[in-house]
Amino acid sequence: MTRTVYVNGEYMPETEATVSIFDRGFLFADGVYEVTSVIGGKLLDFDGHAVRLQRSLDELEMKNPISKEDLLEVHRELVRTNEIEEGLVYLQITRGAADRDFAYPGDDVEPTIVLFTQAKPGLANSPKAKEGMKVISIEDQRWGRRDIKTVQLLYPSMGKMAAKAAGADDAWMVEDGHVTEGTSNNAYIVKGNTIVTRQLSNDILHGITRAAVLRFAKEAQMNVEERAFTLQEAQAADEAFITSASTFVMPVVEIDGQAVGTGAPGSVAARLREIYLDESLKTAI
Ligand code: PMP
Repeated sequence: MTRTVYVNGEYMPETEATVSIFDRGFLFADGVYEVTSVIGGKLLDFDGHAVRLQRSLDELEMKNPISKEDLLEVHRELVRTNEIEEGLVYLQITRGAADRDFAYPGDDVEPTIVLFTQAKPGLANSPKAKEGMKVISIEDQRWGRRDIKTVQLLYPSMGKMAAKAAGADDAWMVEDGHVTEGTSNNAYIVKGNTIVTRQLSNDILHGITRAAVLRFAKEAQMNVEERAFTLQEAQAADEAFITSASTFVMPVVEIDGQAVGTGAPGSVAARLREIYLDESLKTAI
């Protein structure tokens, strides 16, 4: 099926969509993005993603070409037109096309905005949630502003490839002996009845799913500690899991070949996944 996509104010078939070779997203990775999940044809936590998008743009002094209301309408229209029941909406804004120069172009250059959908049937009922994921550890060699959701994703891609080569599903990145996050997700461990995840800073992306899951965990009277943890601590934990908009809550059962807890998905991760999906669906739009 040819998808309908959105480029700079217009809906068109994906085969007709183009962006300039001078686009700064292409030349400098000078762009930001968001991924919003769709379940039952509805958007999960659209507001959270819109707020983080604005923050990423502000941090990079990039113009926002679209109002929040219009952005929601574009999301909904693409979900409708492409008949997405379960899947994702990808949004990217770059600083636009200008003659190549390290300095940002002037105000006359308009940002580029692109949105497209990805159908992912079975997203909510992923078998991986029952099986659990295997992760390897790699050094975190990304830049220092990981709080900004930029499109410079080459190091995370390299991490995924290293994981694949090792027969694992993903990589957890480690800096100064402490886990920062997964290549495209936030990382957690459970010890006793306490959930531990790294505190917010410029070292990690401020996950929208992370914020929601921690809120739900606290509402369910679970203990949450926001602090850095080591790889050894993770390997000795009772449970481990990740969160992201596209995986929700996903158990991690092996780290660098070593089983976490019993080596099977844990009850805390399973419970949080259920609560997250239930609660997010209630406010989905
Ligand atoms: N960390 C990184 C590095 C990510 O790429 C992502 C997903 N884009 C996340 C965490 C999770 O963020 P969210 O819950 O907003 O998807």
